[in-house]
Amino acid sequence: MLLLLLPAKGLIAQESAPSLSHALSKEQKTWRDLHYFSIDSTFTKAVEPEEGAARLEALKALYDDQASWQARRNQLEAGIREALLLPENTVGMPLPRSLRTKTIERNEGYTIENLALEILPGVWVTGNLYRPTQIDSSAKWPAVLSAQGHGRLEPSASAARFEPSGQVRCALLAKMGAVVYHYDMFGSGESGLHFGHEAHRTGMAQAIQTFSSMRIIDYLISLPYVDPMRIGMTGASGGGTQTFLATAVDPRIAVAVPVVQVSCFFPGGCPCESGRPIHLMCQPASNNAEITAMAAPRPLLVVSDGGDWTRTVDQVEYPFIKRTYSFYGKEALVENVHLPDEKHDYGPSKQIAMFNFMAKHLGVDASSVKNENDEYDFSSVQPIDWEELLVFPAKKLPQGHVTSIAQIYAEMIKMNSKKR
Ligand SMILES: [Zn+2]
Repeated sequence: MLLLLLPAKGLIAQESAPSLSHALSKEQKTWRDLHYFSIDSTFTKAVEPEEGAARLEALKALYDDQASWQARRNQLEAGIREALLLPENTVGMPLPRSLRTKTIERNEGYTIENLALEILPGVWVTGNLYRPTQIDSSAKWPAVLSAQGHGRLEPSASAARFEPSGQVRCALLAKMGAVVYHYDMFGSGESGLHFGHEAHRTGMAQAIQTFSSMRIIDYLISLPYVDPMRIGMTGASGGGTQTFLATAVDPRIAVAVPVVQVSCFFPGGCPCESGRPIHLMCQPASNNAEITAMAAPRPLLVVSDGGDWTRTVDQVEYPFIKRTYSFYGKEALVENVHLPDEKHDYGPSKQIAMFNFMAKHLGVDASSVKNENDEYDFSSVQPIDWEELLVFPAKKLPQGHVTSIAQIYAEMIKMNSKKR
């Protein structure tokens, strides 16, 4: 049993013996979920790299062709959905309500819209839509979800969404012809206007963030100028976790680039990454390398470095993931850029790897942002003041927004119970 119900002391997570806890009553499950959504818990703990590699070796014994992998993949996906309260898809749901509070024209060839999406009643995703200035519905343009890493949570100059390097990355992609939504993780940045930034340090953040990514895709593909077949996603660190998680559960993501996060021995140190038992819903337990492999056979670039928990990717995680692609005869669609002398960031060299991959598989035009030496020209765009990027400069969400985790939980349960 993964979860033992101990009324006096709450619940205890036991990594060694997971199950879906089907024996629990509905009331017990609700209590369990609310408990784990509302505390700072992390289900899966880091292990030594050797232990992580040994676990991958053991997993390899479970599948050696497409059919046996697909069976395991189905189990994994069902487990992730249950752990995160995710619906199978969003078909039949009303489009998220969109609120565009400001449009910023940039002379460099792109436009920024300060845009919030109401993905469930009273639940808002806050972000900036970067798009080419010259855009119309006579052509279809690719779109990219840009998920945040952690940084500081509060809406200030150093909150993750406003960091200059992220702004430049999104602007360059827009100049290459992509529509990019750069959004706060739950409780971070302006999302903290719901009921504070500490809401990020809960399992609910993991659930709502992943559901948010699904709903952002609903919105993006509703735009007349977006090509629904060319949806990409990227993010570093916590944004890397969000990238491979959303890619695992949403087949509409056609190209994925998780950066500095795929690891077989580190599950992510924040409850927004491992605050729900996503790794433990199948026996034997999973890990982030196997979840990343669920992208197969869609184009996937794993970017890793020598200075963090991705230091073994070129030797361990990437060969494991590539093996999964071989079941489809699609090894050519998965790549790893490993930077042994680098550290945990989404710096220029990692961005260049992502740009090249997006150009190759998503059809963005990299030549439009290169100089005469065929190098990406990072100086061709300038970050702007963070306060210009706020969707809600008065620091208030629209009336009727949710004010507690219990409210969000109730909305997600209601959504799942609706027949579509
Ligand atoms: Zn987090």
